[in-house]
Amino acid sequence: MVAVCLGNPYKLQYKWQQLCEELAGLLKKSLNGETVRVYSTMAKPALGPEDVMVYVVPNEEMGRVAEHFDVRDGGNALGCTFTGEKSASEVYIDSEYAGEKLPPDYVAKLIWHEIAHNKSRLGNHKMHRGHGLLQAFVRSRDGLTSDDIKFMRKHIHAQVRQWTGGFDFGAPP
Ligand SMILES: [Zn+2]
Repeated sequence: MVAVCLGNPYKLQYKWQQLCEELAGLLKKSLNGETVRVYSTMAKPALGPEDVMVYVVPNEEMGRVAEHFDVRDGGNALGCTFTGEKSASEVYIDSEYAGEKLPPDYVAKLIWHEIAHNKSRLGNHKMHRGHGLLQAFVRSRDGLTSDDIKFMRKHIHAQVRQWTGGFDFGAPP
């Protein structure tokens, strides 16, 4: 069984339950009736071979993956994934302008996108499409296409080692 762990190293207040449900709903479309467990944690998790972890952090400056793997984009990216011996993904939930956290249904789509990178181990050029949730900049109004669902079905069970070192940093400021 696949489990998705949402890492919350900054112990952020958020609508975690709703986020987990939204994300499970998106992933279920690629799972042929199998269950998927989506949960959040403030401590380093123990992960199974098919599990995937995505850190949820305020912004890129506070990014655990961006910092550790030096993959800062500096632009208006809402997430990033590093693929290597271990893969690492994160999303940024404070919007750039209003300083407000993005809504759970939108964040779920951003997480789905980073999971697609993480599990397929494909970078931007090989994975991005012109529409749906595989496009470079997923907007809140975008939704899953049949191509997206097929893509995730192909990759969701891939065994990709996950970087859990994002919980090893010092206490947040
Ligand atoms: Zn992408």
